[in-house]
Amino acid sequence: MTNLAIIGSGFLGRTLLYTLAKEQKPYEKITLISSETFAAPCSLNSTAIVAPRGLTQGHSPLGDYLLQGFLDFKTHVEKNVPSGIWNITQFNGATSGLDNFRRRYPAGDFTQRLGNIPLKKDIYFRAEEAFMLDPKIYLNWLMDESQKNLKSELEVLSDFVTEVIEEDRPVIKTQNGRTLQFDKVVFAGGNYNRFWMNLMPKSVLESSKPVPGSYLVFYQLDWDLPSFSITLDGDNLIWNKELRRLIIGATTESVSHALPDTNELKEIFTRLFDAIDLTPPDYSKGIIKTGIREKARKREPYTLGRNNIFFLGGMYKNGCSLPIKMTSDFSRQYL
Ligand SMILES: Cc1cc2nc3c(=O)[nH]c(=O)nc-3n(C[C@H](O)[C@H](O)[C@H](O)COP(=O)(O)OP(=O)(O)OC[C@H]3O[C@@H](n4cnc5c(N)ncnc54)[C@H](O)[C@@H]3O)c2cc1C
Repeated sequence: MTNLAIIGSGFLGRTLLYTLAKEQKPYEKITLISSETFAAPCSLNSTAIVAPRGLTQGHSPLGDYLLQGFLDFKTHVEKNVPSGIWNITQFNGATSGLDNFRRRYPAGDFTQRLGNIPLKKDIYFRAEEAFMLDPKIYLNWLMDESQKNLKSELEVLSDFVTEVIEEDRPVIKTQNGRTLQFDKVVFAGGNYNRFWMNLMPKSVLESSKPVPGSYLVFYQLDWDLPSFSITLDGDNLIWNKELRRLIIGATTESVSHALPDTNELKEIFTRLFDAIDLTPPDYSKGIIKTGIREKARKREPYTLGRNNIFFLGGMYKNGCSLPIKMTSDFSRQYL
């Protein structure tokens, strides 16, 4: 019998726990460690749409992987009916760079209406099947389901890992003075993985970059429309009917801190409501959220391992969909 630590409680860490529970892995004890204070989870600050984004099989290994991630996530939603996930239509449109856009979305059309959403001008759009998440509800569901199915004892620690000592059984030290020893340690630390370069071959973690993104959230809107998501020239407008919540964003910033680019947010808001014929909410009521994504080398998600210490990451813009595929591949191979 063995014990395992998962460091990280975002989509990836919790999905790993969920996968282990589903597979009934016979660990004696699993310890889930995370620190919202010292390592803010990107998962709680995500616009959280899962869509194929025009991907089709056979163009690149990464494209195939992302597409398979989408299909596995879809199967997960259909089979396990998680809370905090809704089926929606994702409308992808462009007003510039149309030649490239049409190569990705060949079956689109010029239109002045997306279902019952009026547009102010004719725009090329392509609709696709998608899922909308509420990160908090879904993360709670992953935790509850894991607890129901786990064969192992589960320990959940709110603490920050400050040191890892490589031994046959790796030792972890934490900010609250804990010294813990495990048979296996898995980091699912998002943007914070890259600080552990001493533990892994430098090539992957060294080239991993933080990419902050900010968006606006408006609550209690009274739009009488079903839930949907529109991406127009890279800007997103996401309406959740159930939560009466509108999201506008998101920026993609080349800095390494979490301060939002408020000018860019205002521009996104203006651009979207110049094209979409819906009554805009009062801009001043928008709440700004920022998350920091981890963009790995060539945007490729990674699984690294040495001496019973593993790193999973590089989710970048696919952190909602990929964990189901990634953690089941990883669990089969290493756990
Ligand atoms: C604005 C924005 C919009 C996005 N939109 C989408 C979208 O529409 N669809 C999509 O699929 N993805 C989207 N993403 C990306 C997605 O949110 C991320 O890829 C995903 O949240 C990453 O999840 P994660 O579990 O890998 O990392 P995180 O959620 O960042 O979790 C990392 C965890 O590790 C813990 N941790 C790290 N280091 C330590 C340590 N030393 N000690 C203890 N704990 C530690 C943290 O506390 C945290 O719990 C978006 C991201 C942003 C910012």
